[in-house]
Amino acid sequence: MTTRAGKLTEYRRKRDFARTREPKGGGRKRSPRLAYVIQKHAASRTHFDLRLELDGVMKSWAVPKGPSLDPSVKRLAIHVEDHPIEYNRFEGTIPKGEYGGGTVMVSDRGTYGADSDDTEATLREGYRRGDFKFVLKGKRLKGSWVLVRTRGRGSRDRRNQWLLIKHRDTAAHPDTDPVAEYLTSAASGRTMEEIADANPEEGS
Ligand code: MN
Repeated sequence: MTTRAGKLTEYRRKRDFARTREPKGGGRKRSPRLAYVIQKHAASRTHFDLRLELDGVMKSWAVPKGPSLDPSVKRLAIHVEDHPIEYNRFEGTIPKGEYGGGTVMVSDRGTYGADSDDTEATLREGYRRGDFKFVLKGKRLKGSWVLVRTRGRGSRDRRNQWLLIKHRDTAAHPDTDPVAEYLTSAASGRTMEEIADANPEEGS
């Protein structure tokens, strides 16, 4: 099994920590509940990064259109490199020219678990099978969801394609668009503009 430090190799290779304020990771912080976060990221293209804690790292998907609360909508989710758990608290601007340059806002955060029971083994097995069912307990997004790995073959980009789908439950709201509704940080209350304008020396 890959060690947690090993899982973060790609994350660290892509970043110059002398230039970006993103965390290097590897801290021992571990809470009993599994963490969930979704960050809005105004990179070359604005997208949302969904991160779910599993085995000591944040499994991460870039969701170009963001989450939908409509169970009939499937949102493309590109599986990207594992991120450190400390990344969940990151809010700020990655310098232009650096990997992922642009402003990052915590759009939602909380904990998550499995549908049936709350064991990490259930989640791990779903993730491994590419049929990753989970329940969000965020400040904003809640209820049952699934990430389904598509059968794309060929290029790496295609193999990394998953679909994010809201299950039918009381937290499904076909008429509510969370992307349009949640324009401030779930962590700091700031807008993207306020985060972008903040003094980088201020804590995030
Ligand atoms: Mn991103």
